[in-house]
Amino acid sequence: MTTSDSPSSLTPDVVAAITGKLDEVADRARVAAEASGRSGDDVRVLLATKTQPAEKIRVALEHGFTLIGENKVQEITGKAEALADLEPETHLIGPLQKNKVNHTLRHAHCIQSVDNFPLAEKINNRLDVLDETIDYLIQVNTSREDSKFGVAPEDAEELITATRELGRMRLRGLMTVGLPGSSPEEIRPSYSDLRELSEKLRGAGVMPAEATELSMGMSNDFELAIGEGATIVRVGSSIFGARDYT
Ligand SMILES: *Cc1c(COP(=O)(O)O)cnc(C)c1O
Repeated sequence: MTTSDSPSSLTPDVVAAITGKLDEVADRARVAAEASGRSGDDVRVLLATKTQPAEKIRVALEHGFTLIGENKVQEITGKAEALADLEPETHLIGPLQKNKVNHTLRHAHCIQSVDNFPLAEKINNRLDVLDETIDYLIQVNTSREDSKFGVAPEDAEELITATRELGRMRLRGLMTVGLPGSSPEEIRPSYSDLRELSEKLRGAGVMPAEATELSMGMSNDFELAIGEGATIVRVGSSIFGARDYT
């Protein structure tokens, strides 16, 4: 039995809807990249797959997408086996508790949500035991709101300087979550601030020159984020539909 014969509860309509949306998002991302003078290859679409069942994610991976992001370690572990044959590149894009580090490192290729030193140290210590390395992004709170997540922009330099001492972690760039549900005029500064912070920190040698990733932009604003320099956009509901939290 081949994979395509394996039982799936997805109807052909549902599969066609997902692949149609995937093509549409990929097209829009490419057009936005080209409009800002970049190549479509400079921007990767990360599928934000929280609450989505593995069989829907499988459709996207079989359609040629390779990068998925989960918010919860439990969802990464829960779906990993079902998707293992497709070898997705898996990022953690949600908050990580220190007691979940071991499970995360088993399946994640990149942790986008590093925002404090004790967490980074815990990750690094575990990597020492495993004799492995991992990519990470520093999550910055650019929303100018009281968010629990992300280091304040003015504290990013200190955190990055400290985490760069951790030998098993490779800093790839910065990540931010913009203000939810606000207008382009309100959200754009979050993204331009992240780009400017990245340029400043790389220019000053605080971040390595190759740490160029800017993970920013979601379904409602990914083209705007690409216009501001995003290299990874995290798109969920505009591909898979509204999330079902029941
Ligand atoms: C859910 C989520 C996304 C995707 O949001 P959509 O609006 O569904 O595209 C992106 N980034 C993070 C951190 C998320 O939690």
